[in-house]
Amino acid sequence: MPMFKSFENRLSPILKEIVEHFGTPFHIYDEVGIRETGQDVIRAFSGFGGFREYFAVKALPNPSILKIMKDMGFGFDCSSIAELVMARRVGARGQDIMFTSNNTSHDEFKVAAEDGGCILNLDDITLIPKVPVMPDLICFRYNPGPRRTGNSIIGNPVESKYGVSHDQILEAYGTVRDRGAKRFGLHTMLVSNELHYEYMVETTQMVLDIAEWVYRELNIVFDFINIGGGLGIPYRPDQKPLNLDAMAKEIRELFLKFKEHNSYMPKLFLESGRYMTGPHGVLVVRAINRKEIYRQYIGVDACMSALMRPAIYGAYHHITVLGKESEPPAGPVDVVGSLCENNDKFAILRMLPHIEDGDLLCIHDTGAHGHAMGFNYNGRLRPKELLLRSDGSVELIRREETIDDYFATLDYEPKVFNPI
Ligand SMILES: *Cc1c(COP(=O)(O)O)cnc(C)c1O
Repeated sequence: MPMFKSFENRLSPILKEIVEHFGTPFHIYDEVGIRETGQDVIRAFSGFGGFREYFAVKALPNPSILKIMKDMGFGFDCSSIAELVMARRVGARGQDIMFTSNNTSHDEFKVAAEDGGCILNLDDITLIPKVPVMPDLICFRYNPGPRRTGNSIIGNPVESKYGVSHDQILEAYGTVRDRGAKRFGLHTMLVSNELHYEYMVETTQMVLDIAEWVYRELNIVFDFINIGGGLGIPYRPDQKPLNLDAMAKEIRELFLKFKEHNSYMPKLFLESGRYMTGPHGVLVVRAINRKEIYRQYIGVDACMSALMRPAIYGAYHHITVLGKESEPPAGPVDVVGSLCENNDKFAILRMLPHIEDGDLLCIHDTGAHGHAMGFNYNGRLRPKELLLRSDGSVELIRREETIDDYFATLDYEPKVFNPI
């Protein structure tokens, strides 16, 4: 169900007041919902000794959200310097952080090694000699190539730029061991927004098979297996949620079988982003224009700078109109922003109730890969982020961008260089 009903029940009665106080547009996130999902994940995987979720920071990179994740005992999956810095600012250290970069730069390796380091997840064998200090614990991202097919968002592994190929994996572990690594992890990430849990079970079987193979060939045991993120959420009203309990149960069986064959059990890591926060956010916008030409358009006061998914992926985000939730649809409309880009549409030919200027629209499920993806094309600014706290208070957790922010990179000491 789009936007967990309980969040809607908490938000709807107070939304008008929040809008009066903070103004539109904004993303608002739900602490209660985020914590409930976190507890669901912990409970589902409680059978695993060392289970840990590493929240994928890129989904919702806000320190207030990361603090909630940390409070629940989760680590952080980071892939850039900014994400490393943010995770450390909320107190994450060492093995609380998994650094899964690709096309990694020297500067990124340097920052990754600072402050007690982190778990390095290497994306390629050519990166091994580029690691400044070989850490104790190292991991590789595995790309199965033609052995598996990914789902539609992340694509086919053969075409994917990520990871170490099947034929390189033994060399990869052998080389880092020769260079002093003592403990090892194995990572893969093959799907995105996948609602069929069976796929994650197959992925687990695949990485456990690789772990067994590496053990046989190199006598290397694994500290952990990381099966990546990519757990889906139902964006459309008719979609069913992923069956987390069934997934955990079947993965547990695979781990137990692995233990029988190999007489040890690695820890299981997950690095979910979308599943953790996606349903627990909405983008609240106000209708400001209504236009009828060949189609009917509802213009709102945010644009794709606040939410890119519909434009990039053709993604569906459910939309409700505050106070008109039970009104019958008045006809198909396109809900649009003001960017000079025709794919700047939150919804296309969507059946919505009659909308007038001033109506408040909730664009659902924007808690992951929403605000974070926004950009400044056309001089459009990103909106603020609010957090509905468990105690019912509403906190500004990121202010909106201002014109001064936009011009900030034009404010510098003049520098002119004349070659020769
Ligand atoms: C994006 C990403 C994730 C999180 O993906 P979700 O679909 O949000 O769960 C996890 N791991 C890696 C390496 C990623 O790039």
